Amino acid sequence: DPALVWFRDDYRISDNPALTAAAATGAPILCFFIFDESSQGIRPLGEASGWWLHGSLSALDSDLRALGSKLFLFRGSASEIVSRIAAVTHASSIFWNRRYEAAEIALDTGIKKDLVERGITVQTFNGKLLHEPWEIKNQAGKPFQVFTPYLRAVSMRSVAPPLPAPRTITAGRWPADLLDSSVALDDLALEPSRPNWAKGFAAEWNPGEQSARRKLADFLNTELPGYARQRDFPGKDSTSRLSPHLRFGETSPRQIWHASTVRNDGQESDTAKFLSEVVWRDFCYQQLFHNPNLATAPFNSRFGRFRWAADKDALAAWQKGRTGYPIVDAGMRQLWQAGWMHNRVRMIVGSFLVKHLLTDWRQGEAWFWDTLLDADPANNAFNWQWVAGSGPDAAPFYRIFNPIAQGEKFDPNGAYIRAYVPELAGLPGSAIHRPWEASKEILGPAGIELGSTYPRPIVNHEQARERALHAFRMLRAEA
Ligand code: FAD
Repeated sequence: DPALVWFRDDYRISDNPALTAAAATGAPILCFFIFDESSQGIRPLGEASGWWLHGSLSALDSDLRALGSKLFLFRGSASEIVSRIAAVTHASSIFWNRRYEAAEIALDTGIKKDLVERGITVQTFNGKLLHEPWEIKNQAGKPFQVFTPYLRAVSMRSVAPPLPAPRTITAGRWPADLLDSSVALDDLALEPSRPNWAKGFAAEWNPGEQSARRKLADFLNTELPGYARQRDFPGKDSTSRLSPHLRFGETSPRQIWHASTVRNDGQESDTAKFLSEVVWRDFCYQQLFHNPNLATAPFNSRFGRFRWAADKDALAAWQKGRTGYPIVDAGMRQLWQAGWMHNRVRMIVGSFLVKHLLTDWRQGEAWFWDTLLDADPANNAFNWQWVAGSGPDAAPFYRIFNPIAQGEKFDPNGAYIRAYVPELAGLPGSAIHRPWEASKEILGPAGIELGSTYPRPIVNHEQARERALHAFRMLRAEA
C-alpha cells in the first residue's frame, strides 16, 4: 500500500521531515498538493504570493521527478480530497508537516481524526520552524510576550540538524479516476495574464529550492560579513532576500541555522544578528499560534477603539507611492515592482500609513498581503501590529518615524530613492529627501515640477505628527 505525502508550504525535498519519513517506509510514494481556498477560515492567497506559488510548485515537481516521483495537484476542499485520495489509493499512511494558523490547524485536526478512524497512520512533523510555538516557555510555563528573553531562551537550545534529501523515491501509481480529478498547474491560474503585472518579479526572483540554496550560499559568502551594520540601508543589497523562499518552505530555518553557525571566522556578531532575525520569524509564529486573530484584532484591545481617519484618497496615494515623501514612495513602488520591500522601509511606510495618515493598520496588512511575495500570515500580522503600537512587544504608538530624517539617515545619498522614484533621480542627495524645500534653480534643471511631475507632500509632517499624538491621547484618556 502506498504512503501519501501532502505538501503544504514546504516545497522542498531536503530537510523535509514528512518526505524523508515517507521515503524511509520503503512503500511506494504519492506526492500531492491541494489548492484549497474553500475550507472555512482559509485566507485566500494574495496575487503576488500566487505568482510565487506557481513557481514553487513547478520547481518542486521537477525536483521530485529527478528523484523518480512527481507532484500531483488538486483543487478544492482539502478534507474531501484527502479523504478521497486515501480511499481510492488504499494508502496505509500519510505524512505532512504541521501548520500553525487556527483555520489550518482545525482543518488538519479534522482530517487526521477521520483518517485515523479509518486505520490509516498519520505522521506529522515540524518542517517550518526552529522550535514550535509550544516548545519555548518562560519560567512560569507561559509563552514569552517579549522578544529578548525569548531569544535568550532559544539560544540555550540546540536546533535539530537538517535532513538530507532522500536519494530516490519509489513512485506509487495513481489510480486513473483520481488522475482525472487532478489539475494541471496552469489550471490553478496563479500567474497573472492580462495585464501581466508580474514582469518585474521574474527579473528579480527565481522560486524553487535550488535557487534558495544558491541564494543562501551567496549571502553567507558575500553579504553576511557586515550584515549587522549594513542591514538597515535599503540602497545596499545587504540582506539575504530569503523571505519568499522561507515563506514557501523552499528552505528551512534549520538549514539556515546550521549553514550559518558553522562559521568561526570573526563574523560571529553578523551571524548572531542574522540568526536573530530568523528567530523573530519563529517568535511571530509563536504569537500567531497563541493569538489566532493577529491579522484582524489588535493584540492590545484598547486599540480597537482607535478613531482612524478612513481617508480613501490618502490610502490610494500610499498604495501607489504618490505621497510626496520620497522614501515612502520609493518603498511602495519597490513593493509593487519587485513584490518585496526592504525591512527598514517597511517600518517607515507602515508608520507613515498608521500615524501620518491615521489609517487602520489592517489596511496596510491587507495591501502587503496582496502585493508581497513573502506575505506571511505570522510575520506580516505581527509586524503590522508592531508598527501600529498595538502588538505584543510593539514599538510604542507615540514613537513616530520622521520620514525625512529616516530617509536622510538610511538612504543618505538617495540611491534607493533614485532606483524607484526615477522622476527625482536628478536631485542632489541634499535635496532628494525634501524636494518641496528645494528652490526652482535646483528643481528646474532636474526636470521636476512639484504637483505635476512629482506630488507635493499629502500631509505636513509636523501637523500629521500632532494629529496622531492627539488621537493617541484621546484613546488613552478614554481608557
Ligand atoms: P533578512 O534580514 O535577510 O532576514 C532573514 C530572515 O529572517 C527573513 O527572510 C525573514 O524570514 C526573517 N525576518 C527578518 N526580519 C523579520 C521580522 N521583522 N519579523 C519576522 N521575521 C523576520 N516578513 C515576511 O517574511 N513576510 C511578511 O509578510 C512581512 N511583513 C512585514 C510587514 C511589516 C510592516 C514589517 C515592518 C516587516 C515585515 N516582515 C515580513 C519582516 C521583514 O521586513 C522581512 O522578513 C525582511 O525584510 C525580508 O528580507 P530578507 O529575507 O532579506 O531579510
